Amino acid sequence: MSAISSFSVSKKPPVILVADDNKTIRLLLREAMEKEGYRVVEAADGKQCLDTYKIVKPDIVLLDAIMPVMDGFTCCKELLQMARNNLMTALDNLDTESPLGNNVISNLWERTPILMITSLDDQDSVNRAFDAGATDYLTKPIHWAVLRQRLRKLLQQAQVYKQLEAANLALQHLANVDGLTGLANRRRFDYYLNTQWINSAQAKCPLSLILCDVDFFKFYNDEYGHPAGDICICKVGSVLNDNARKNQDLVARYGGEEFAVIMPDTDVSGAFYVATRMRTGISNLQISHSASMISQYVTMSIGVATMTPTWESSPSDLIMAADQALYQAKKQGRNRIVQNLLLHE
Ligand code: GH3
Ligand code: MG
Ligand code: MG
Repeated sequence: MSAISSFSVSKKPPVILVADDNKTIRLLLREAMEKEGYRVVEAADGKQCLDTYKIVKPDIVLLDAIMPVMDGFTCCKELLQMARNNLMTALDNLDTESPLGNNVISNLWERTPILMITSLDDQDSVNRAFDAGATDYLTKPIHWAVLRQRLRKLLQQAQVYKQLEAANLALQHLANVDGLTGLANRRRFDYYLNTQWINSAQAKCPLSLILCDVDFFKFYNDEYGHPAGDICICKVGSVLNDNARKNQDLVARYGGEEFAVIMPDTDVSGAFYVATRMRTGISNLQISHSASMISQYVTMSIGVATMTPTWESSPSDLIMAADQALYQAKKQGRNRIVQNLLLHE
């Protein structure tokens, strides 16, 4: 069995970036690695290694310690920093697209193994290499059989790590997403509200919450059946999500046909504006609801509350205030927005 087929899921041969200022060593490494079926890209110093790394995104880096321009230890540290920066960018991008927000991929970490191959075999150099973030260390002259085994093992480990990461991501997704609508679930709602509470208290910023509920939805199910009710819930959730600000608001399915929208850095008028857009959006869907007592279409009642969090108050105060407002909206005839302004006096 070839080295590649034993670990490669993608079937593409792994790319190895060889950084060494010695041309002969690079050539020897290239020959040995290509014989194993790997693809090889070369760099003659640490700086070139960084530049090449950005372009080819190798599966592993073989790094010499002593090189001109930038040595292997510095290069190793920079590679690690680059991975951290990539992680932060990935987090930022995800935040704008997903209702899940940042914590979902908090463990996502691009860990390309770095194998240092060097003639430095003193204790201090070995320690420096591992301190800089090297995954493994091999001394010259190269023992080819050992190198082959180490490479195979490191690539396998990286592959397993990626698979675990993907599985972890999928599990976190399941744990945070509502199965019917694809919106954030109650668990995610609780987490996001708590973190935004703390952020808003620190920044002394207003935090707004919408709680809304489909009117006469029991009658809707009775009239059109449960599957149609599910479709209706999805459409409503989608309109709410479309009218929220993508990078900071969180729309969650709070339970049944009830939804919640957390709106950080949003004052009373901003919250009312969003609520109005949401209510109008639902009306514009014109989903027939012949069993409704107030309209021929599906409508929603919306409760809104705004407060500037303090260390003396708690998220449950805001939930309670929005819930009271929703109750009033129902009581006053449904298909309307009620704002609880008590907390803002
Ligand atoms: P109100 O205007 O006072 O809100 O009346 P309502 O009938 O909407 O309120 P109620 O809470 O009595 O009924 C909610 C209904 O929502 C009952 C339940 O069968 C239905 N429901 C809850 N979750 C789901 C779901 O996932 N799918 C479907 N199809 N129906 C659901
Ligand atoms: Mg209802
Ligand atoms: Mg309800």
